[in-house]
Amino acid sequence: MTVQEKGTITIHTENIFPIIKKSLYSDHEIFLRELISNAVDAIQKLKMVSLAGEYSGEIGEPEIKITIDKEKNTLAISDNGIGMTAEEVKKYINQVAFSSAEEFIQKYKAADGQQIIGHFGLGFYSSFMVASKVEIDTLSYKEGAEAVHWSCDGSPEFELTDSSRKERGTTVTLTLQEEEKEYLEPSRIKQLVKTYCDFLPVPIKLDGEVINRQKAIWRQSPSSLTKEDYLEFYRYLYPFQDEPLLWVHLNTDYPFLVNGILYFPKLRPDVDVTKGQIKLFCNQVFVSEHCEEIIPKFLLPMRGVIDSPDIPLNVSRSALQVDRTVRKIADFITKKVGARLKELYCSERDYYISIWKDLGTFVKFGVLNDDKFKKQVEDIIIYRTTAELNSAKPDTPEVQVQTEEGDAWQDVTPSKKSGSPSYTTLQEYLERNKTRHENRVYYCTDEVTQATYIELHKNQGLEVLFMDSFIDPHFISFLEREHKDVKFLRVDSEIDEKLLDKNKEAEIIDPKTNKTRSEQIKELFQKALNKPKLTIRTEALKSDAPLGTPPAMVLLPEFMRRLRDMNALFQQQELAQLPEEHILLVNTAHPLIQNLANISAGSIIQSGGKSPSAELAEMICHHIYDLALMAQKGFDAEGMKSFVERSNKLLTQLTERAANA
Ligand code: ADP
Repeated sequence: MTVQEKGTITIHTENIFPIIKKSLYSDHEIFLRELISNAVDAIQKLKMVSLAGEYSGEIGEPEIKITIDKEKNTLAISDNGIGMTAEEVKKYINQVAFSSAEEFIQKYKAADGQQIIGHFGLGFYSSFMVASKVEIDTLSYKEGAEAVHWSCDGSPEFELTDSSRKERGTTVTLTLQEEEKEYLEPSRIKQLVKTYCDFLPVPIKLDGEVINRQKAIWRQSPSSLTKEDYLEFYRYLYPFQDEPLLWVHLNTDYPFLVNGILYFPKLRPDVDVTKGQIKLFCNQVFVSEHCEEIIPKFLLPMRGVIDSPDIPLNVSRSALQVDRTVRKIADFITKKVGARLKELYCSERDYYISIWKDLGTFVKFGVLNDDKFKKQVEDIIIYRTTAELNSAKPDTPEVQVQTEEGDAWQDVTPSKKSGSPSYTTLQEYLERNKTRHENRVYYCTDEVTQATYIELHKNQGLEVLFMDSFIDPHFISFLEREHKDVKFLRVDSEIDEKLLDKNKEAEIIDPKTNKTRSEQIKELFQKALNKPKLTIRTEALKSDAPLGTPPAMVLLPEFMRRLRDMNALFQQQELAQLPEEHILLVNTAHPLIQNLANISAGSIIQSGGKSPSAELAEMICHHIYDLALMAQKGFDAEGMKSFVERSNKLLTQLTERAANA
């Protein structure tokens, strides 16, 4: 073997090896990704020259082999790609690789300690992070090319000699540094290949076994993929997770190249939605687990992959955030997601409705955060309603949903399977209820605790929307800003005139006191409860069966409740107890209240001291109030205790009376 050349690598910094080693300390492992990427490139370049007719020899089965030699302390990566001539080694390794590494270091320093996304751009040079010596043994595809051997021990000096290599391609052999021996463990290498190179389109072999998956389905055309392909890929990426709700396949090559598949997962309450779970790739090579800078914030709960060579990866994360291309890519992704949602709404309405519970929060969050997204999806936001809506024609949606800006609300009737809850858009709701309560929207936030109120509205034909997601309080404020003339009223905030029987107001007047029944009842409650901040209102609730209506209800005016919710939110507290200033609406039409009035009237006649019936009436007042509070979650521990005690006392008295009757 004759030494062909010895030389000094042309770099300006005296010795940048220690710098690179220090600055990239935590990420040494990426050397393998860089070397395997080069090997894949070399294989693809060979295909290209062959296709171009510049090479007529055998291409063979492309493959990359990783060989570990524990005794020699070496790790070798071989490919059967294009190879290099001596000239090319000088040019691409001595000049290009090292000058690009130097450039990288400059950028890295400029980033001032900020993490550089992906650490891309380091290339071949990164092998010096783990190796004390790097050798290249290569034979070019070019006719008459001679194999060469290059070696460098981490100083800027290299050695280029002949090689006895016979097969076309390149082997890069690293003699590992003492503290980098972990890369001699097959399990560590397998893990790294799985992480970074799993989807590279060339088989990567270790000990004869192929250790990467190769198939990157996001690079395939959507029409060639089945539902099962998408699901299978999701399961591969996120094993042991619920099936995704739907997915969006991104593929565009103009004005930037982006491929990817984004899945809507079933959101779990314990998921940290500020941490992205989308994997970022660059030409099928894994770059990062975190796409926070590329993905609009509201899309972070999505999962899947984004692959784009147009995302600059050797810049700091903060630079990435303001990068124009990155912003455009983010807009593109948002648009695609919006379009997919619309498509689903129009063509698979039943399915859309069935996943809305999971999807809705996400969509609303997007609407609150992104104006363009809002314009895209505002007419496909649906709400569960108490109205029983008839099934539309789900297969032939009449609606032409425009995707351009400036959309008006679309009048679309959601379809419905019999027995399943009905859903409506806000626009439909307003239309449907125009004559009964124009621009007023009744909603509830808790189906269970507000059941009494919901029933009451329902029975009188008033439609109630369920706004029970944690995002809904914000969303309601947003809707009111968007639709200035529309007011949202929670079912327990106010009683609609429609629910009141105004005729019954003309009530009997007590000849002795000259007071109406209502006034008497009001006084009775005021005295019994003795709560100056509590407003007592008497009304007759309309109903064919008064027993089915509540005898009393606690109301909290909408503005007051919102203030209270806000405070709780700012102070990060659990919802405080019901404020003392609230309304107790006593339903004078209810038989219980009428009986109560009679007992109390009797007790007045008896007069002097507290008669047993006056005491009973007082107890019942408390009891009615407590029951109403219960429906509002307004009980504290003390309240609960006295409620139970009184219940027992009341029942004892009632049974005594029955026994004596
Ligand atoms: P990059 O891959 O970004 O161009 P590198 O520093 O990794 O930068 O490599 C520099 C050059 O060396 C490559 O562009 C390529 O021409 C050449 N090279 C590196 N590895 C191989 C290989 N395995 N086979 C053929 N050429 C290679």
